[in-house]
Amino acid sequence: MGLFSKLFGTDAPAKPGPSSVKIHPSVDGGLKAGSASFTGGTLVCKCKTKPVKVKIASQVAHNHVCGCTKCWKPEGADFSVVAVVPRDSVTVVENGDKLAIVDDKATIQRYACKTCGAHLYGRIENKAHPFYGLDFIHAELFEEAGANPPEFAAFVSSAIEGGVDPSKMAAIRGRLKDLGLEPYDCLSPALMDAIATHVAKSAKK
Ligand SMILES: [Zn+2]
Ligand SMILES: [Zn+2]
Repeated sequence: MGLFSKLFGTDAPAKPGPSSVKIHPSVDGGLKAGSASFTGGTLVCKCKTKPVKVKIASQVAHNHVCGCTKCWKPEGADFSVVAVVPRDSVTVVENGDKLAIVDDKATIQRYACKTCGAHLYGRIENKAHPFYGLDFIHAELFEEAGANPPEFAAFVSSAIEGGVDPSKMAAIRGRLKDLGLEPYDCLSPALMDAIATHVAKSAKK
């Protein structure tokens, strides 16, 4: 597998059978492959009237399932699905006055719709942060199909903090593996290595 397909997940997705273990509506039926011709689209919040629209001029990278308590999840889901795009590919195009930062003390400033609660994008303002320059978005809010599907599951154990019964974790991890989403309790090894590399380089300066 080449670096490009590793980064952008163009391998054929797994097709597991149905399961009573629910992760997130966009992965529960199996993963849909991303389209090589997808170059972005429009994220739309959940409001029926005057939805917030954010234009994304990029395919998504590092898409993953996340069990942390900070990422936005649709109603009833225990996990979120979150990816990154370059911050200069993100433009608020409609009803931006409905956006507010969820927690301005957090490392990632998540811009959410004040009416429906959906997070449109999360931005890091600390230039020293390893992920500075990347915005976090939820591909399920795209009007268009073709975004790269999730590649792994991060912060899986944190789902317990979000209210998941600990006794269900074994089944959840099993289901994630069936879906081809290797479960990790932090980020994936590739991303943890990228962070450590950044920290090591910064320390040498
Ligand atoms: Zn909304
Ligand atoms: Zn998260």
